[in-house]
Order: sequence, then structure tokens, then C-alpha cells
Amino acid sequence: MEIEVAPESVSGPDSAPAPPSAGAGHALDVTLLRTSCLLIEYGGLRILTDPFFHRTMRGLPIFRPPGIPLERVGRIDIVVASHLHRDHFDLQAVRQLAHPQMVLVGCPGTAAFCAGAGLPRIVEIAPWQETTVGDVRLTATPADHTGPPPAEVNVVIRLGPWRIFFGGDARYSEAFTEIGERLGPIDVALLPIGGTRIFGQRTTMDPADAVRACADLRPRWAVPIHEGGEWLPVPPASWHPGRFHHFVTAMQRSGQSSVAVAVEPGETARFVSGDADSGVTHMRWLR
Ligand SMILES: [Zn+2]
Repeated sequence: MEIEVAPESVSGPDSAPAPPSAGAGHALDVTLLRTSCLLIEYGGLRILTDPFFHRTMRGLPIFRPPGIPLERVGRIDIVVASHLHRDHFDLQAVRQLAHPQMVLVGCPGTAAFCAGAGLPRIVEIAPWQETTVGDVRLTATPADHTGPPPAEVNVVIRLGPWRIFFGGDARYSEAFTEIGERLGPIDVALLPIGGTRIFGQRTTMDPADAVRACADLRPRWAVPIHEGGEWLPVPPASWHPGRFHHFVTAMQRSGQSSVAVAVEPGETARFVSGDADSGVTHMRWLR
């Protein structure tokens, strides 16, 4: 296993072959699997965020399967791990997906967490550190969440002409203002909206918080993610059905120019940005 700590680049003549180059002029596909587990595809390059394929959680069956079964996910170039909570980082799945060129980019502590797992390349990025994998640049941002260390990071992914903000499991914080100023303009923001509370304390943004985050980030499009934990079919303890659409409605009422785009598990939003053709279409993931 090779472990690197940002800001070193993981590409270069002595490193493993880089993933396919991200070409210009391609659509950006974002597929929701479940929670904050998303497949991001652009120009033949494939990124998986916060992998989560477990069938049980805290001894309870997870009632909603991932939108793409693990065995059909296919080759992944980069895995992004915002933090290491069990419902955001499934080490067993990452081991199954691993191949010599795959790079795991995660929060500080990821390498120690994965010790002995045989993963080929791990890069840790702390807030405001960045790394490049082939043509992809990933910058960690501060993220306010909860739980024991290591702390969560959020990540801005620069992929060809696209700038994507991945919000992991964060609650709202003043960091969003600085993220928008330092790393904007954001094209697509992926924002958790489950609004989980633990012992009365908000640990993840709810739809209203995500609307505030949008005001700071000013993305062109905003995609709600992480509707809840999905291991207890008992709203509001863990899952909050309908919150994706609460967010869409709240964004429409906010007067912001960002356009909210909701996708259900197994659904892809295809973003196109160009002079002549610009917009988003929805597709089911059928491959
Ligand atoms: Zn978490």
C-alpha cells in the first residue's frame, strides 16, 4: 500500500498510470446510489463518493438497497471519503472495487483506518489541502459534523470544466461562506438534507440549512443527497422521505438563481453546460 499526504500530487512519471483524461465538452453525469454515495462520471472518468453498500447497520437491516448493486458499479478511478462513519465509508466495498490504479482520497485518518486492507493508493487531504489524480483536482474544505475524530472534510472536485462541491454529512457552518469565496464558482453542489439530530444536536443539514449553504456557494445547480440513514424505516428517527422535494420547494421560494435538481436512488442527472445547449436531464441507471 502506498500512502501519501496532500498537497503532494499522486500523478507523475513514477506513479501508477493515471485514470483516463477528462476531456472537454462532455456531459457530467451524477447518479445517486443512496445516502451520500454518488457516482460522478465525466469523459470516461468515474468517481465514487462516500461508498455505502452495507446490508445491515447497527444490527438492523437497511431497507433501501443502493441504486446500483456493488457488483454492477464497474471500474472506479477515484473513491472520495468525506469521513469514516459506517454509513459513509464501507471499507469492504472499497476493497472489492480496488484495482492497482484506483486512488482513495479521504479525510485525515483514512490511511490508518484502512491499514492492512491492501488498498493500492491512499491520499489524505485536510481542509484547504488539495491533490491531483490525473486531470482531476480535489480540494478539501472544512466541514462541521460530529462524532469522534478524524473530522469530516468536504471536497471540491474539479473535473474538466466542472466544479463540483461534495457536502458529505455536514451540518451548516460559516465555512460555506469561505468555501464559496475561495473555490467558487461552483457548478454542481451536492448537499445533504437529512437534518439528523443526535441528542438534540443537529449533525447534518436539513433542507433550510442546505438553502443557506446554497446562498453561500451560489452553485448553478444544487442536488440534495443523504435523505437520512436508511437503516430504520421509521421517520423521522433515521429517514426523512420527501425531504428532497422539501429542498426543491424551499430553493424555488428562496429567490436564489441556483436550480435544485432532485434525483432518487438509481437515477442519474445529466448536466450539460455550453453556449448552445445547457441544462439537466434525468435518466434511470440501466447499465
Ligand atoms: Zn457522519
